[in-house]
Amino acid sequence: MPRSRTIITLSALLAAMTVGTFALLALETTPAQPSPIALAARPMLSPLDQSIASAIATAQTPPALGRWTSIVVHDAVTGAAGPCAAGSHFFVDVADGLGNCTVSAGALWAQQAPGATLFIPDDAFNAGAISICIAGDFTAGPPSTEQMTALTKLVSTLQMHLGIPADHVYLHRDLTGQPCPGRAFPVEEFRRALR
Ligand SMILES: [Zn+2]
Repeated sequence: MPRSRTIITLSALLAAMTVGTFALLALETTPAQPSPIALAARPMLSPLDQSIASAIATAQTPPALGRWTSIVVHDAVTGAAGPCAAGSHFFVDVADGLGNCTVSAGALWAQQAPGATLFIPDDAFNAGAISICIAGDFTAGPPSTEQMTALTKLVSTLQMHLGIPADHVYLHRDLTGQPCPGRAFPVEEFRRALR
């Protein structure tokens, strides 16, 4: 009797170990699922960051340091001397339904050609100025928060890549008599965001 009880006990133990081993194997072969925390920590570019990186990368020849010495901000309303949108290098679009505001670059940036937005007698300034056009008319109301975020991020990124100091970032109206961007453009907020 004691012998058979020992055998039963050993069999039960063996059975338990076998089941345990299979259970462990089953656990190990289950594909590892990333935890929500790991997913959140994975660096992902936002649609805005992606659009800025893609827009800057459209330059057929990456600009050397010193090629561009200033940045000028415009709105899309045609001034008396010509449309700022057509002569700009970068465009800040209106936000989509999901609140994503993206940036694109035009042919002048791809070609690293001077902008055609500043009609100053000596065109030397125009030759080194990156023009950015924000979609909209800001005579009555300011750009959206999303547009201001996109503009600030684009300007900061260009400053960092090209070594352009904050005091070389202008509004079109700082330089000429054109009312561009419109008077509702939040210039103080923009300047603070750049520092
Ligand atoms: Zn302008």
